[in-house]
Amino acid sequence: MKTYDVIIVGAGPGGSVAAKVAAEKGLKTIFFERGRKSGEKNSSGCGLGPRMWRDFPEMMKELTPEKCPSLRPGVYARNYFINKDDQVAGMVMARPTESVTYEPAKSFITMNCYRSDFDPWICNFAIEAGAELKTSTLIVDLIKEKGKVVGVIDEKGEKYRASIIIGADGAISMVAKKSGLRYKWQQHQITIVPQYDFYVPPENIDKVMGEEALAVWWGATFPAAYQVFFRDGFHIGLGNWLTWWDKNPLYYLNRVVNLDYFQRLIKNLEAKPREVQAHLLPWMSDPYDTHTDNVMLIGDAGGFPCPLEAEGIYPAMVTGRAAAEVAAEAISEGDTSKNFLKLYDEKWRNTSVGVEFESGAELYHIWSKLPFEPKTMEWFVPMMMEVLGGIYDWSEPHTVRVRQIIDKVRSYSPQMIPFVMQEVFPLLSKVLGDDINQINTMNDLIQSMLPKKKQPRKKKERDKLKVTVPK
Ligand SMILES: Cc1cc2nc3c(=O)[nH]c(=O)nc-3n(C[C@H](O)[C@H](O)[C@H](O)COP(=O)(O)OP(=O)(O)OC[C@H]3O[C@@H](n4cnc5c(N)ncnc54)[C@H](O)[C@@H]3O)c2cc1C
Repeated sequence: MKTYDVIIVGAGPGGSVAAKVAAEKGLKTIFFERGRKSGEKNSSGCGLGPRMWRDFPEMMKELTPEKCPSLRPGVYARNYFINKDDQVAGMVMARPTESVTYEPAKSFITMNCYRSDFDPWICNFAIEAGAELKTSTLIVDLIKEKGKVVGVIDEKGEKYRASIIIGADGAISMVAKKSGLRYKWQQHQITIVPQYDFYVPPENIDKVMGEEALAVWWGATFPAAYQVFFRDGFHIGLGNWLTWWDKNPLYYLNRVVNLDYFQRLIKNLEAKPREVQAHLLPWMSDPYDTHTDNVMLIGDAGGFPCPLEAEGIYPAMVTGRAAAEVAAEAISEGDTSKNFLKLYDEKWRNTSVGVEFESGAELYHIWSKLPFEPKTMEWFVPMMMEVLGGIYDWSEPHTVRVRQIIDKVRSYSPQMIPFVMQEVFPLLSKVLGDDINQINTMNDLIQSMLPKKKQPRKKKERDKLKVTVPK
């Protein structure tokens, strides 16, 4: 049996960063990938957020179009709002706003690329650091001694032993299951995400989309769909928790693709369907049971995608780094027990990923009740479009229009007020903490600025003001 300090199952972004950091710390490290190369088995493309550049600067500065040909930076996000009649009722374009503080994030929203470029690229850092990669190798079981995990077995029966085993094996994690950490996801913890990949001639993307990175189609007849533009293609996909679906998920995705507006976009871009994909993506309010004796789970295997919008690559990298650092400490202390490995939880909770999960329940909840709930979008879309687009009507004087718009927005109160109380206020109070009082202060300020209702003047004052007109 071959022996290592650390075994990592999975060579996605999480596994590769864990292998790189473990090897750099001098640990004898091996990582396994069932695909012929890493990135072969994933969703075909992704958007990479600026936090990756901020927190992994040495690696990310090397992500160039030469090394990652599908790379496409984008500075705009487009939001389409679709009403219950499947019409695009409105659209908002957004670019990084004035409050963005991380300088590079002012010039891009996401960098988009295909995983077939990105995963081998990131995997290479681990190989260069001295980790051993075994591709085309499916790990099928864990070896246990006295109830504790001490190694892994591949499908050919080959056995490998190590002090620490890191589960970086994605959404359907064998390591989580066989180590007893999680038998299977509960239905509200995992989403299914079907998506289409379209080929587009690269020059057409720039011509039609300009600097757009991505678009979200916020729908009253389907859960929010995302569209991501790569150098020579785009993805359109949508997802929801397993508890949600009443029909085949493709039915909802086809509703997006069949929108008149979307069809026009396909024609303008001269887009051609290239692939249909469906993947599972863990999406939960707070990861738990992330480790046991000799074992840690990272990335999707541990349920780390962001609780609001399931950005998953950055959390996989952050937790991969944290797990490898803890592995090094545990091995040098000669203590790889569950009790020692709780340091892993302390470490990742102390990162940007941990901060995200501090409000995980509120973020998860608002997403499930708004973009992922077409019934909410049924009133939300027309209400928002009243505010944004209501003034574009010249059939009445503008003052009449303003009155009409206010009345219409007020008519949504029975839906809007419970929504704000149940979803928005809990999130605000979590985010603002004691500063929530700022809202009251602002409210007082607004009240003080509002024009007061005119009081009828007293008779004496009226008399004083009387003007005698000379005859
Ligand atoms: C449709 C879709 C779109 C997404 N878009 C984005 C996006 O735009 N931006 C973003 O940040 N995140 C996105 N995500 C989330 C992101 O893909 C994941 O969160 C991220 O890939 C997690 O990384 P990981 O290393 O934990 O797992 P994975 O990337 O899933 O890697 C796991 C690896 O382990 C291998 N493996 C699994 N089991 C075994 C085994 N038993 N033996 C050997 N090898 C094994 C797999 O082949 C795979 O290479 C998206 C997810 C989906 C489904």
